[in-house]
Amino acid sequence: MSIRIGVLTSGGDAQGMNAAVRAVVRAGIHFGAEVFGIHEGWQGAVDGGDQIRRLEWEDVGNVLSKGGTLIGTARCAAFRERDGRKQAARNLIVNGIDRIIVIGGDGSLTGTDRLREEWPEFVAELAAEGDITAEQASAHQRLIIAGLVGSIDNDMVGTDMTIGTDSALHRITEAIDAISSTAASHQRSFVVEVMGRHCGYLAVMSAIAGAADYVLIPERPPADDWRQHMAHVLRQSRRAGRRTSIVVVAEGTQDRQGNPITAEDVRAVLADEMGEDARVTILGHVQRGGTPSAYDRWMPSLLGHAAVQEVLRGDREPQLVAIRGNRPHFEPLMDAVAATRRVASLIEEGDYDEAMAARGRSFVQMTRAFHQLSEARPDVEPAPDCSQIGVLHCGGLAPGMNATAASVIRLGIDAGHEMFGVYGGFPGLIDGDIRRLGWGDVEGWAASGGANLGTRRTIPTEEDLYALSRSIETSGLDALIVIGGFNAYRALTLIHDERKRFPALQIPIVIVPASIDNNLPGLQMAVGADTALNVAVNSVDLIKMSATAAKRAFVVETMGRHCGFLTLATGVAVGAERVYLHEDGITIADLKADIDWMVEGFRGGRSFYLAIRNEEASPFYTTDLITRMFEAEGQGAFSVRGIVLGHVQQGAAPSPFDRINGVRLASQAMAWVSEQIASGGNQHVFATPDGMRGIRDLDELVDWEARRPLEQWWLELKPILDDLSLAPGGADASRD
Ligand code: ADP
Repeated sequence: MSIRIGVLTSGGDAQGMNAAVRAVVRAGIHFGAEVFGIHEGWQGAVDGGDQIRRLEWEDVGNVLSKGGTLIGTARCAAFRERDGRKQAARNLIVNGIDRIIVIGGDGSLTGTDRLREEWPEFVAELAAEGDITAEQASAHQRLIIAGLVGSIDNDMVGTDMTIGTDSALHRITEAIDAISSTAASHQRSFVVEVMGRHCGYLAVMSAIAGAADYVLIPERPPADDWRQHMAHVLRQSRRAGRRTSIVVVAEGTQDRQGNPITAEDVRAVLADEMGEDARVTILGHVQRGGTPSAYDRWMPSLLGHAAVQEVLRGDREPQLVAIRGNRPHFEPLMDAVAATRRVASLIEEGDYDEAMAARGRSFVQMTRAFHQLSEARPDVEPAPDCSQIGVLHCGGLAPGMNATAASVIRLGIDAGHEMFGVYGGFPGLIDGDIRRLGWGDVEGWAASGGANLGTRRTIPTEEDLYALSRSIETSGLDALIVIGGFNAYRALTLIHDERKRFPALQIPIVIVPASIDNNLPGLQMAVGADTALNVAVNSVDLIKMSATAAKRAFVVETMGRHCGFLTLATGVAVGAERVYLHEDGITIADLKADIDWMVEGFRGGRSFYLAIRNEEASPFYTTDLITRMFEAEGQGAFSVRGIVLGHVQQGAAPSPFDRINGVRLASQAMAWVSEQIASGGNQHVFATPDGMRGIRDLDELVDWEARRPLEQWWLELKPILDDLSLAPGGADASRD
C-alpha cells in the first residue's frame, strides 16, 4: 500500500489555506503518496467515517482564488482530551494514515504534537483492545507530522510570514484607504481596530501602509501619558497639513497596568483631548475574508510542496515548515511554538523590550520607522547648516514609488535634513527642476499609484555629466536618493566611473530598488513587483471566470522584460499549466510537447488550459503565434484566446507589501545617507534589505546584457509549478 498522508486545517481560518491544501494533495500524488482530507479540523479525525476522505487531483482544482478552507476547520474540544485523541488515532490508523500535515495556529500545532507523542501508547492500547489489527499496529507504529502556520496575525516566531497575513493586510489597507478618503472630506478622525491578540504585526504594518497617525500594539503598551502624547502627535500632523487623523489599535492592546485599551477608549480620548467627533471602525472578520492575495497563493504552495517531502522523509523531529527569505525554512516545531508562547508571557510580565525583540529585528525597525514617519514637527525649522538631499526616480513606473519617495522625504526631515524633490528623473536634475518638499507636501502619496515626482528611463550620457554636475552644484545638493529600476543602476555606474572628472558627483548617492520586473540585484523583491503580480493574478482570475462555460485555452502575456519573475509567480499563483520564460527560451520541440499534452487533455475531458508567456520569452514565438498554433492544433475542439495584460500591471495602487517594502528600504537608505553626511563619505551604493552594497559589486551580481540578476531566487518556483499543475497523464479535467 502506498504511503497515506492526512491533511487538515484547524483553528481559525485564513486566506491561503486552500493553496496549502492543494499543494499537499498534488505534491503528495506527484511523489507517489495518497492524500486524505480530514474535514473540520481535528473533529473530523475524532468522528472518522466520511470525514476522512481521499482527495484526488481534481478535488483541489479551482481553489486558489477562494478564501476560507475547502476541507473546513473547527475548534475541537474532544481533541483536547486523551480519549478524543485516541479515537482520532484509531480513525487515522484504520484509514492507513500515519503522516499528518496540519495547517493552523499554535494551538493546532501543539495538539498535533501531543497526538504524535501519545501515538505509540494509543497503538498498543488500540491493538490490545481489538480496535485495530496487529498488522495495522505494526504498520503504523509512529506518527510523522509537519506543521504549516495558518494565522492572519503573523504571530509565529520562526517564520517571516504566516498564511493569511498578507491577505488580511490587503483587507485592512483597503479599508484604511477608503476611510482616509471619506475622512479627508470632513476633517474627521477615525479609530480602526484590527486583529492581533498578542501580536501587533497587522496593526503596525497596516498603519505604515495606510499612513496612519498613531498605532497601539500589545507588545509595547504606551506610556501612562499616552492620551496626551497621542493628542499632541495628531495635532502636530494636522498643523503640518493633514486633514484626517487615523489611529490603528490592535485588539489585544493594554496599558502598562494590564487594562485593555479599546477602540472606544481611543475615541473617547480624541473627543476629550481634541474635541473631535471620531468614528470607530472594527474590522473584525472582514480581515479573514475575501480572495487570497498573490503572496497567499504562491507562498502556501511552496510550503505545502515542501511539507510533503518532509513527511515522506520523516527522518527527524517534527518540523515547522516556515518561510524565510521567500524560501522554505525548517524549525523544530515545538521550539517555534514555545518561542511564540513566550512572547505572550513576556507581555504579561511587563518585559516589553524582550517581547518586541522576540518579534524580530525587522518588526522593531518598522515600528521605529512608523514613529519617525508619523510624527510631524511643523515648528522645527531645519538648521541653517543642514544638508540638502535630492530624491528622484529613474526607470519604468513601479507602484510604491510614491510611498517610497514620501517616506524618504519624511524620514529625511525627521533626521534634520532639508529635502528636495527632483521632478522628471535625470533630465529633470539636469534642467534644475528641483523643489523643496515639506512634511505635508507628500500627504496622501503612500496610497497612490504612479510617481508624483515623474519617472524617466533616460540614463545620462557622458556628455550630460557636465550639466548634471553643474546642476548638483548650483542647487547645493549634498546627497541623492534615486528610487528606480535597472536604468538607475546603469546611470549610477556611469556616474561612479566618471566621478573623478566631476567633483560635484562625489557625494553620497544611493539607489532604492523599484521595478515591477523584479530584475534588480541583491534583493528578493523590488518595490512594485508585488503589486504587478497581484494585478496579473486578479486579471487571470477574471479571465478564468469568463471561460467557465466553454472549452477554452488561454495564452496570457505578462510584462517583465527578460526577467521571468512576474510570469512564473503569476503562473504558480493561478495554477497555470505552463509558463514561457526568456530564461528558458522557447523551442518548437517544447511547443509540440505542450500542444500534444493539451490536446490530449481536452480529448480526455479537460475544459481549460492556461499558459502564461513573458513578453520577451522569445522574439519568434510570440503570444499571437502560440495562440494560433494552439488554435490550429485544437481543430475546433476548444477555442483559444491570446491576452496581453500590458500596462495595467504598472498602474495599480500599491499593494500593502510594496508600501511596506518601500518604507523599509527608504528607512535604511536614509539612515545610510545621514551616516555618510556625518562622516564626510561620498560612496555610491544600492540598497538591499541586508544593507548597502557598493555600486562596483554589480559586476558580480548582474547580467548586464539580459538586464537581470545572475541569481534569481524565484526560479526555484519552477518545479513547484510543474508538480502542482501538470496532472499525471494530463487528461484530468482540472482547473488551477
Ligand atoms: P489555533 O490553532 O488557531 O491556535 P486553537 O488554539 O483554538 O486555534 O486550537 C485549535 C484546535 O487545536 C483546538 O480546538 C483543539 O482541537 C486543538 N488543540 C489546541 N491546543 C491543544 C492542546 N494543548 N492539546 C490538544 N489539542 C489542542
